[in-house]
Amino acid sequence: MRLTILGAGETGAGTAVLARQKGYDVFVSDAGSIADKYKQMLNDHAVAWEEGGHTAELVLRAETIVKSPGIPPTAPIVVQAAERGIPILSEIEFASRYTDAKMICITGSNGKTTTTRLIHHILTRAGYDASLAGNIGRSMALQVAEGKHDWYVIELSSFQLENMYNFRANIAVVLNITPDHLDRYDFRMDAYAAAKMRIDRNQTETDSLIYWRDDDYVSAFLQREPTPARELVFADEQGGRAVAYVRNGVMTVERPSVFFMNVDELSLRGRHNVRNCMAATIAALSAGVPREAIKSALSDFPPVPHRLEPAGIAHGVTYINDSKATNVDACFYALDAMTTPVVLILGGLDKGNDYAQIIPLVKEKCRALVYLGADNAKLHETFDSLGLPVFDTHTMSDCMQACQHIAQWGDTVLLSPCCASFDLFNGMAERGTLFKEAVACIS
Ligand code: ADP
Repeated sequence: MRLTILGAGETGAGTAVLARQKGYDVFVSDAGSIADKYKQMLNDHAVAWEEGGHTAELVLRAETIVKSPGIPPTAPIVVQAAERGIPILSEIEFASRYTDAKMICITGSNGKTTTTRLIHHILTRAGYDASLAGNIGRSMALQVAEGKHDWYVIELSSFQLENMYNFRANIAVVLNITPDHLDRYDFRMDAYAAAKMRIDRNQTETDSLIYWRDDDYVSAFLQREPTPARELVFADEQGGRAVAYVRNGVMTVERPSVFFMNVDELSLRGRHNVRNCMAATIAALSAGVPREAIKSALSDFPPVPHRLEPAGIAHGVTYINDSKATNVDACFYALDAMTTPVVLILGGLDKGNDYAQIIPLVKEKCRALVYLGADNAKLHETFDSLGLPVFDTHTMSDCMQACQHIAQWGDTVLLSPCCASFDLFNGMAERGTLFKEAVACIS
């Protein structure tokens, strides 16, 4: 059996190792250059590879293709493979065929990483043998090749879900579906939502589907395509079909078993994070985790870097790094969580943003806006008319100078830019790290 792997990053290299172990004839092809550590891994397992382009003849001579989630379905080599009827799988689909571990899967437009890590933190606190996979952590295929785990907690993007067919999630979580990556879906929300809802494919009545009640796309999808899984719905407030909600400051879960915890005792802040905590709690209860372990894990879960992460206090001003807020919805919840006047840093690579959602909160909470992007024209057009002081910057150091100049004692400077970072930085992590370093220099 010949297997071709497109893309030799963490998932591709891991898949190659597992596939070799299972007796496949493996070929790896990468249009870019392959990192040395992955070349080494491929060589160590006697896997043939190419970089800097795809040789169609070698790639297409396969019974199965495993594609990195970063490669779009419109890439010419993928189109050719599809035309020839070669099945194209994601790493998770392939790896899941070789393990009988239970799967907890998390998807959504925002909150995946936080909730995935939180569920993993709860399970390990309770002594479960659980491992992280998907968008975070090490390749699941490699972990399956190396040994056995009882549970995988898997962060799934819509890109991964697109190429999953027989995979079955024992516990699936859909946090929310809001506009993101629409460029990959012909700007059609229904197509993006359908990709996310593939998480529910193959679920049976013994499985759980956990989702946010107030998400229109999830509810509409489930009306069209009902699920046999046990539906466990969380919401901000009691009512409807919600089995988890907040009442009088207490996070309350009725099913699958009863659980109470004061919202003030959660280590994470903000309304969106209460939702993430509810989803994680329902998932953990569904997995049989005892209440006490959940409580203690929810109260000491450390902030995830670049997600509403405290970056320091300087001259009475609190700095918060939410560099991962690369869409408008994430910034909305960051602003919503703020309790002091805010100097908001916005900007970067705009993925077709509609800023209308945050304008009322900007008016209500912001003292000033600092634009940080290569091209800030759209921000000027959208926000300047609100009458707030605005600053136009193109480097982190100019941005920080503007923030220091305008922020007053007791304010919060919030980096929650609504945009991707690649115009000025090598990714959102670099943007967030430079922000934190700049704060460290002044505090
Ligand atoms: P993802 O992995 O889906 O990108 P993250 O946990 O990395 O999600 O968070 C991304 C951004 O979204 C951060 O700015 C975070 O503060 C915000 N966020 C986290 N959870 C939610 C949620 N449930 N709803 C809206 N925004 C959220």
